[in-house]
Formats: sequence, structure tokens, C-alpha cells
Amino acid sequence: MEIIFGPVTSRRFGTSLGIDLSPTHKQCNFDCLYCELAPAATVTHQEQSPSVAQIVSALEAALAKHPHIDVITLTANGEPTLYPYLNELIDAVNTVKKRAQTLILTNSASLADKEIFQTLLKCDQVKLSLDAISPDIFQKIDRPHASIDILHIKDAVIEFSQHYQGKLFIEILFVHKLNDTPEEIALLNETLLHVNCERIDIGTIDRPPAYPVSGISYSELHAISQQFDSELPVHIASRLQAQACQSHYSTQAILNTLDKRPLTRGDIALLFDNATQQRLEALVKSKKVTEIERAGMHFFVPSENLERKRSKILTKPK
Ligand code: SF4
Repeated sequence: MEIIFGPVTSRRFGTSLGIDLSPTHKQCNFDCLYCELAPAATVTHQEQSPSVAQIVSALEAALAKHPHIDVITLTANGEPTLYPYLNELIDAVNTVKKRAQTLILTNSASLADKEIFQTLLKCDQVKLSLDAISPDIFQKIDRPHASIDILHIKDAVIEFSQHYQGKLFIEILFVHKLNDTPEEIALLNETLLHVNCERIDIGTIDRPPAYPVSGISYSELHAISQQFDSELPVHIASRLQAQACQSHYSTQAILNTLDKRPLTRGDIALLFDNATQQRLEALVKSKKVTEIERAGMHFFVPSENLERKRSKILTKPK
């Protein structure tokens, strides 16, 4: 039974040691269409769990071997918040983690449980998945346990984001012909306008899914990113199967695109042809475009846009 895995390096979270809170088999309150694990009946609690002592001793041994870890990621073959001793475990990990931060990856359903809500407040970083808001699309994509209601999850995500002091990330995974409609994106947008988070990562299916569904293309993800309010920190996170769709943009079109949605170098390599990339470099040199850091990632934004946001903050009514 391997409880600790890694280290693995991710662009988004740095060097991570993973803790698998369900190392024997899949135990999850969802059975998502896109899950990379095999389909399984949903459960509301774990039947088999390693003890806190077992996990902490394995973690201490791994940290002694790999002292330069950025994050200790609580995850599972399934949903980590179903681990029955989560509160005790997070307290124990917080005492042995040294310079590392704790990160939990959850499907958000357990946030509606007040005890788990309080427990997650103790993590340094939390990533919440939120694939849909409308009950029928949520049922189709995430195939939750019968006791789970998306409207309770939505309220809990908003409330959590207002109390949480650490770094909060939201992840939305788009599945072709399910949650990629303008109506569903508008509902997600409306909800996310109430969520206080560092970044909203949008992606699609990158690994073989549990059920016969397909992902969407990089250009569709880019088009979706433009449908969210430009104030939201949306970032296209999925590039594994990204096909370059390089296009020609005028200088004004570059500024308009970056104004609507800041882009990373990776996005630019996929979206802009060579001449457009040179035009962007010229804009950076002439300080019309600035590279900024947001939640550990670098984005290009029009300098005017930064000024506008700064003056908005300065003139915000008291
Ligand atoms: S929540 Fe995660 S582990 Fe559970 S079914 Fe969905 S993708 Fe799989």
C-alpha cells in the first residue's frame, strides 16, 4: 500500500509530495464521466483508510529524503475529504511539514458539511472543482451520490472563499457537449463573480476517461475563457493535447485580446503566429504590455489595463 507518491513537479503548484488517502481502491462520492480511475459506485464514507500514524510516519520518511518540497498534496483514489480522520491528519501534517505548504484537491461536495468546511480552512492551499451549476448538467458530468445537491455546493464554495485565508484555486473541467454551452458558462460565471480566489483553471479531458466522452480543443477553451467576465482570473490549464491554432493578430487585436483575458507565454505560443509574437515583443519593449505574476504564474496584460484596475481600487467608494 503506497501512501506517499512523488515528488512530482507541476507548473501550477511547484514540487509536490502526494498523500493518497485511499491507497487501496477508488472511494468517491462522485463517479465523474471524465475520471481517470475506473467507474465505481459512489460512497459517502471510506470503508478502508490508512491510520493517521501510518500516513505521518510515511510522510516524515519522504520529507527526510526530499527536503525541498513546495507542497504536500492531500489527494486520493477518489475524494480525499471522505477520509474519516481528516481534521486530525491536517493538524499532524501541519506540525511536520517544515517549509512546505499543505494543499488539498477536492470535488467540493463535502464543503457543505460544516466540520469539513472548518477543517479545510486549516490548509495553506485548496483547489475546489466546480464543473457545473445547473442540477441536470452536474448530474450528467459528475454523477454524484444521491445525497449531494449542487446548489448546496455552490453556496458552500462562495461562503468558503469568503472565510478562507490561504490560496484558493477553482478548477473547471469542460466536457464536449455537456458543460461547454453558453448557458452553463454564464451560470458558472455568475457564481464565480461571488468567489474570492487566486485563479480559475479551466481545462478539458487530458487522460483516458472512465466513460466514452470527449474533451474540447484548445481554441474552444480559449473561446470559453473569453466568455467569462474579464475581471475573473481565468487561466487555461490544459495543454497536454493542445493543438497549436496560431493566428495572425494586429497590434490592436493583441491589446484587445489581452485586455479581455491575460495570456501566459504558453498560451501565446499556441495562439499567435510568429509575426504576431514579434508584434507582442515590440509592445512589451515599448511598455504598452506588461508581464505580471499572479498566483505563481506569469501573464501578459496591457499596461493601460493595470492602470485602470489600480485607479478603480484607488477610487473605490468607502
Ligand atoms: S471526483 Fe475525482 S476521483 Fe471522484 S469520480 Fe470525479 S474525477 Fe474521479
